Amino acid sequence: MVLLSAYAVAFSFSPRSVARSDRSCYNFRVFPDRASQLPMTSRPIYLDAHATTPTDDRVVEAMLPYFSQQFGNPASITHQYGWEAEAAVKKAREAIASAINASPEEIIFTSGATEANNLAIKGIAEAYFSQGRHIVTVATEHNAVLDPIAYLESLGFETTILPVNADGLLDLDKLESALRSDTILVSVMAANNEIGVLQPMAEIGSMCRDRGVFFHTDAAQAIGKIPINVETQNIDLMSLTAHKIYGPKGIGALYVRRRQPRVRPAAQIHGGGHERGLRSGTLYPPQIVGFAKAVELGISQMETEGDRLQSLRDRLWQQLSQLDGVQLNGHPTQRLPGNLNVSFSGVDGQALLLGIQPVVAVSSGSACTSAKIEPSHVLAALGLSEERAYASIRFGIGRFNTTEEIDVVARETIATVKSLRRAKS
Ligand SMILES: *Cc1c(COP(=O)(O)O)cnc(C)c1O
Repeated sequence: MVLLSAYAVAFSFSPRSVARSDRSCYNFRVFPDRASQLPMTSRPIYLDAHATTPTDDRVVEAMLPYFSQQFGNPASITHQYGWEAEAAVKKAREAIASAINASPEEIIFTSGATEANNLAIKGIAEAYFSQGRHIVTVATEHNAVLDPIAYLESLGFETTILPVNADGLLDLDKLESALRSDTILVSVMAANNEIGVLQPMAEIGSMCRDRGVFFHTDAAQAIGKIPINVETQNIDLMSLTAHKIYGPKGIGALYVRRRQPRVRPAAQIHGGGHERGLRSGTLYPPQIVGFAKAVELGISQMETEGDRLQSLRDRLWQQLSQLDGVQLNGHPTQRLPGNLNVSFSGVDGQALLLGIQPVVAVSSGSACTSAKIEPSHVLAALGLSEERAYASIRFGIGRFNTTEEIDVVARETIATVKSLRRAKS
């Protein structure tokens, strides 16, 4: 415990005071290059919260004891080291379950949302193919949903990829008519990672439940930001990840419903039979504890933080929309509070991104896949031309952004757009 509080003290030091401190002290060697991780004024303002988020200091603090102190393997049942780790994992599992109104046995830890999506989609396909081989999803899903489904198609499954309206919302009538007697799974994300659009979970859930089809949702961007309730929303499987909500990278979970109906996907990783046989591999207590802490923090301040992010988002949009030829992508209100996705007409997207790069870290409406730049499949699904998709920027506002930063970003973006347009004319 003495060591523990020393860790906390070490964290509150500025990098300079750490450097001046007694370097022989063990605690300061835990993170020898911590200084390089601290925000520096010369680095661009981070506005890419949908890609990842910094780990909250409170999360890091909660994780620390489980690296070198309570380092046991939660599966070791014969000694105290194992019991301590097991107790920490149990507590974390309970916290995550209660945040989504699930029970602890329904939480299967994975390495993140990509793995959770793979377990849900391939696992259901493998376990239930005798009941049907048809899977339904949406064009704006993350690749971690679309690619496993494409893989299943290559194995002989049939898939329906539903279009979305121009605002990014799924048309429920289209979903209803896509459901067939041999449909085994519907996968629709809760919140989109590019345009922030929130799909109607409860309506989709009740439709799937009525038709006896499993409903999976990728909630990587939603957990801790908008209310999620697996009971009222009739969710059967749900993918989660910690690093989009100020938790560590490399940890996530799949919620798997146990009752009414019982859902039993086939394991995709076999080994020691951990996680009810659904995901073998030694559990990673520091990451699991950090994940739970991140979820708890997100839930406890969801409303106030949501309001704050939304007002920053609206402030940014108010300023950017003074420019001619700007367009908001995605539904204006049915979206994550910190998300703003904007197209700037008459500018080259790459030039715009390059121009603002020294000041602001954002993503563009394109993705680099195997060194080739492609327009975003999400913006294409909204009906945007390739040119407009390229000239789009995703602003992801997060917990540590300030009003001052938003104003700097708005000024810089406006100035860059204006100068690019001038150079063109
Ligand atoms: C980030 C993200 C993923 C991938 O999550 P990892 O934990 O990084 O594997 C999947 N889906 C959505 C919607 C995401 O935003």
